[in-house]
This record gives sequence, structure tokens and C-alpha cells, in this order.
Amino acid sequence: MSMIVKRKELSFWERLYIPALISGFKVTLSHFFRPNVTMQYPEEKWVLPEGYRGAPLLVKDQEERTKCVSCQLCEFVCPPKAIRITPPGPEANPECGNIEKEPEEFEIDMLRCIFCGYCQEVCPEEAIFLQQDYSLIGTQRDQMVWDKEKLLEEGGIHQDDIMKWKNK
Ligand code: SF4
Ligand code: SF4
Repeated sequence: MSMIVKRKELSFWERLYIPALISGFKVTLSHFFRPNVTMQYPEEKWVLPEGYRGAPLLVKDQEERTKCVSCQLCEFVCPPKAIRITPPGPEANPECGNIEKEPEEFEIDMLRCIFCGYCQEVCPEEAIFLQQDYSLIGTQRDQMVWDKEKLLEEGGIHQDDIMKWKNK
């Protein structure tokens, strides 16, 4: 059964639009003299807190060697399946057989990545870190899939004691 809801009758002052207009202008004027809080992005950027976690990037060690050893743990744990790793295969270095090695390809789809940090947590080599990049720009979808070269270039060198390659 339908029910008709009666509308409240407007008073005389409510029917005049000028008082509403004036109160609207009063709000505009009150904001007009306040300091501007709009950030001039991208010239100005947020000052991020120290622990901020942005895009995951691959890092190199102090000798500029890729730390990633293609174990694929990060690919396995990544909730949105943003990581795709192509291990090199035994033919890349027959002396080493099937042990893990620098990946042939390593891609992260930044459109899928949710910056959760699982990849960083799980990595046994400390080869991938969520850094402070949050402004990731691309005009096409494929530009947002970052390959190994780009991930390493943006990730830079990480100073720590884990240098597995040194003992090979
Ligand atoms: S931060 Fe999370 S979502 Fe992004 S690549 Fe790492 S595990 Fe995947
Ligand atoms: S980044 Fe770390 S967890 Fe991911 S494949 Fe490389 S070594 Fe394994």
C-alpha cells in the first residue's frame, strides 16, 4: 500500500530566495580571508612521515648487484597478484644449476599494487622495499607495469649486510 508523505509548507522567509543567498555569501566571505590550504600539486608535495610506505621497488647492494634471487615468495604472497617474475632458468648459468638467481624479468603492476608491504616482509634477501613514492604517473595502462630495469633504477642502492652474491 502506497503512502503519501506530506511536504512541510515553506514559511514566507523560506519562500524568498534572497535570505538563503545572503547566508550563502556569508559562508563564502568567511572563507575568502582565511589562508589558502590548497596544495600546488605537483610542484608542492606532501611531507611524508618517516614510516610511510609507498611503491615497492627493487634494490641493489653496495656493489650494485641485484639482490633479488628469483625465489618468487613475493609473487606468491602478493594479495592482488601484482608481481610477475620470470626466473632465468638453469641455462642462464649452468654452473649454478637450478638455484635461485637474478630474475630474467620482474614486473610489478602498480595499478594492482595496494602497497600492503607483504612482498617486503617475506623477501629473504631484503631485495624489495616499499619506498616513499606515491605519485605514480602514466597515461596508459602498460606504462604502469614497471619492469625490472625501472624498479631497480627507482629503488637504488640499499646499505645492509645481506650480500648473498658475494659468496657465490
Ligand atoms: S606491496 Fe603488496 S600488493 Fe604491492 S606488490 Fe607488494 S605484496 Fe603486492
Ligand atoms: S624480491 Fe625477494 S621475495 Fe621477491 S623474488 Fe626476489 S628475493 Fe624473492
